[in-house]
Amino acid sequence: MDRTPLTVASVESVGPDSIAVAFETPSSFSARPGQFVKLTLDTEDGEQSRFYTISSPDVADTFEVTVGIDPDGAVAPLLADLEPGDSVPVAGPFGDAYYEGETDVVVLAGGPGVGPAVGIGERAVAADHAAAIVYRDDDPIHRDRLERLSESGAFVRIVDEERDLTDPTAAALEAVGGDAQAFVYGFADFLDVAMDALESAGGDAEAAKVENFG
Ligand SMILES: Cc1cc2nc3c(=O)[nH]c(=O)nc-3n(C[C@H](O)[C@H](O)[C@H](O)COP(=O)(O)OP(=O)(O)OC[C@H]3O[C@@H](n4cnc5c(N)ncnc54)[C@H](O)[C@@H]3O)c2cc1C
Repeated sequence: MDRTPLTVASVESVGPDSIAVAFETPSSFSARPGQFVKLTLDTEDGEQSRFYTISSPDVADTFEVTVGIDPDGAVAPLLADLEPGDSVPVAGPFGDAYYEGETDVVVLAGGPGVGPAVGIGERAVAADHAAAIVYRDDDPIHRDRLERLSESGAFVRIVDEERDLTDPTAAALEAVGGDAQAFVYGFADFLDVAMDALESAGGDAEAAKVENFG
């Protein structure tokens, strides 16, 4: 989809300094969790665009992105001020590190990378597949959805930023089986740690689908 004004359906807090923004899905739009869209906002310095990854399990009527907000950022704080009915130019989807219906999945997520993790986990569990999420954050978000995933049988482990990821990743792989497709989402510093952990834990790091948030 070329840049198209989409209507905001809802904006809700999903934890400390974090929101989920849902947009009404236009009929021409099709996407899967893990793909990302480009949002353009009017800022003090003119129009600025940023990428946000789809965190809903599907895009049937609405689709959602999860945004971590640094108050010094140019765009993310403006997203928190949006209201239902507002219009935002959106382009996409983009990316190739997304859920394509794989049977069993393990997702390593850092910070707002938990957005695609819950979206993929929910999509996989709804199809009766096994899902495991290892989520590194000192102030975890999307706690309700993670809890519901856990109650549905998914493996969910939240680890703080001091902790090594290898053991939780090994436990996740054991829970879903060694053939599970691995996904890794987060900012660059997290990706380095997560890929090392995936390799050390015996996962197939080369086959992992990885999206770098910057
Ligand atoms: C493929 C891709 C997918 C992504 N998916 C997501 C996602 O799902 N969720 C998500 O939250 N993000 C995601 N991002 C990151 C997102 O696109 C933005 O980079 C992020 O939200 C920061 O944008 P911003 O305009 O708020 O901050 P920017 O203005 O770009 O600033 C970046 C950082 O610089 C610092 N900074 C900026 N201005 C100042 C200042 N005046 N003083 C001090 N420090 C300052 C702040 O720490 C700020 O966070 C993704 C990025 C990519 C490339």
